[in-house]
Amino acid sequence: MTRAFADLFGVEPDGTWSAPGRVNLVGEYTDYNEGFVLPTALPLAARATAARRTDGVIKVASAQGERAEPVEARIADLRPGAAGGWSSYVLGVAWALADAGHTVAGADLYIDSDVPIGAGLSSSAALECATALALAELSEIDLDRTALARLAQRAENEFVGVPCGVLDQMASLLCVPGHALLLDTRSLEMRQVPFDLESAGLALLVVDTRVGHDLGNSGYTDRRRACERAASVLGVAALRDVGPDDLREALGRLADPELVRRVRHVVTEDARVLDAARLLDEGRVADIGPILNAAHASIRDDFESSCAELDAAVEAAIGAGALGARMIGGGFGGSAIALVGADATASIALAVEARFTAAGWRAPLCFVAAPVCR
Ligand code: ADP
Ligand code: MG
Repeated sequence: MTRAFADLFGVEPDGTWSAPGRVNLVGEYTDYNEGFVLPTALPLAARATAARRTDGVIKVASAQGERAEPVEARIADLRPGAAGGWSSYVLGVAWALADAGHTVAGADLYIDSDVPIGAGLSSSAALECATALALAELSEIDLDRTALARLAQRAENEFVGVPCGVLDQMASLLCVPGHALLLDTRSLEMRQVPFDLESAGLALLVVDTRVGHDLGNSGYTDRRRACERAASVLGVAALRDVGPDDLREALGRLADPELVRRVRHVVTEDARVLDAARLLDEGRVADIGPILNAAHASIRDDFESSCAELDAAVEAAIGAGALGARMIGGGFGGSAIALVGADATASIALAVEARFTAAGWRAPLCFVAAPVCR
């Protein structure tokens, strides 16, 4: 990356900053309902190799971008909605920092990432967070990682125009090796929960269905709106405020059967996150399998944001001996995870691939995700 950077910009970089992609073990669609999530970082990351500039200009190129020449912009001229394409994720972070009142020096940036793009593994947050770490350090902006995550989320929400919750950015900046991050997305209170797959003799298999998802898609936005509508009917600030014990009564007050299903997912999903965290606290990693299965069924039947390929991946993995499996991410495509015996990863991946071949679908991309390299 240093050589590519020097070739591109004609100067030596000041450093490389990296931020990982993530899988969320359980807690899907709870972040925008101010509930709980339980992500763990992937051993895959976006890296930003960068040098400080003093002229208030950002130049950025990506090894995964469409063209070799850097995209260039003056930080003072950045406005939400003006930039398009992949570089808006990077420029958006500069904009968010500047808009929050920080003095952002310019920078040359070269991005290289091995997080699969558009697979629900959060390549976008990895890109934003690597950029945020680089820009903050180069400009001597003293912000903690929670503050950087919120700015990166703001970049994606307002500058790029994707209405994501804060899960991805918090996971990318705050997950630590060998743990999952139990995060309350309302208070941003968090706790590291032990998640030691290796000692449990287990592995996480990620299946990228290669069915493109798109967070800007109408399905994601529709579901978000439905949740907001339900919260307003129920007179709560967010669905997080409906506890499991209030669920039956709350559902009785919803006339629309669609809202009933959406609320049932969100409320039971929050409970599943807390249950899973409790099991992990006790070192019972294998026992979260059934929770993953229940989460998938709830997403499929109540939140209705799975798709045929995700359902098939989950069913095939379980049929081949996975302890649990579920789709992850924005929905309607992207990836699934399966909790599997460490010695069964290959056979389960083969079973999933065979299921896709039999259906006439493009082969999925299966890989084993160790929790971040120690
Ligand atoms: P996900 O976060 O699940 O991978 P998103 O749709 O949220 O999917 O983000 C994918 C987008 O992020 C890409 O279309 C691209 O614009 C941008 N992106 C992510 N990683 C890179 C990269 N290494 N180089 C350029 N753009 C990237
Ligand atoms: Mg994303």
